[in-house]
Amino acid sequence: MTLHPGINPPPFTTFISEIVEKNIFLEKTFCYPRGGGQQGDTGIIANTKIQGQLLETLPGDSIIHPMDSVEGFNVGDEVECTINQQRRNKNTTMHTVQHIVSALANDLFEAETVGNQISEEYTRIDLLFPDRDKFLQSDLEESVNDIISSKKKVNIHNWDRESILSHEQMRHTKFMDRIPSSITQLRVVEIEDVDLCPCGGTHVDNTSKLNEINITNVKSKGSGKLRLSYNLNNH
Ligand SMILES: [Zn+2]
Repeated sequence: MTLHPGINPPPFTTFISEIVEKNIFLEKTFCYPRGGGQQGDTGIIANTKIQGQLLETLPGDSIIHPMDSVEGFNVGDEVECTINQQRRNKNTTMHTVQHIVSALANDLFEAETVGNQISEEYTRIDLLFPDRDKFLQSDLEESVNDIISSKKKVNIHNWDRESILSHEQMRHTKFMDRIPSSITQLRVVEIEDVDLCPCGGTHVDNTSKLNEINITNVKSKGSGKLRLSYNLNNH
């Protein structure tokens, strides 16, 4: 799964392994399930006779493909799954930008990202500051846009837990407790010189594919916290 691109994912062929109510389970899937603030993929699943709308893909023990209808689909059918590329590309772009925003908010203001919600058109991110009065919107915006325009490579690694936890530059390792210990290798995303953290989201392979941000709103979210909203130029 990790070799599948973050943008322009191609259609793939697989078999239906199970159908439960209006949910289809596939032998393999490249659909991104909702998680980490990022929306799940939508698209079309088709057998030789009919095609159905894949609503938002969801996480589960096996990845869940909720459909508008499963009429005409049977376990064992060979199906082609076509991911909505435009939605995926926008979510991938937004998600990769969020890595940079979180990393620089941490580097510049020691702010910790405590929540985020990504849509195709804008992102909302909650930051917890040791001293939020030091926050400067223009500093963050300019620093993020400098990184975006400096063509940083985005590398994906698969590392074991020990290597991740012992790495000095690693961010966001707290959530690793929630991942079953049977999973020994985790995906690590590296934006060269900017960010390094375990992440299961979808990413572009170079920041040159991103769009610059405009911070549109900053508001208080209680003690030490600010909620930033931003959109992307030409997105
Ligand atoms: Zn990520």
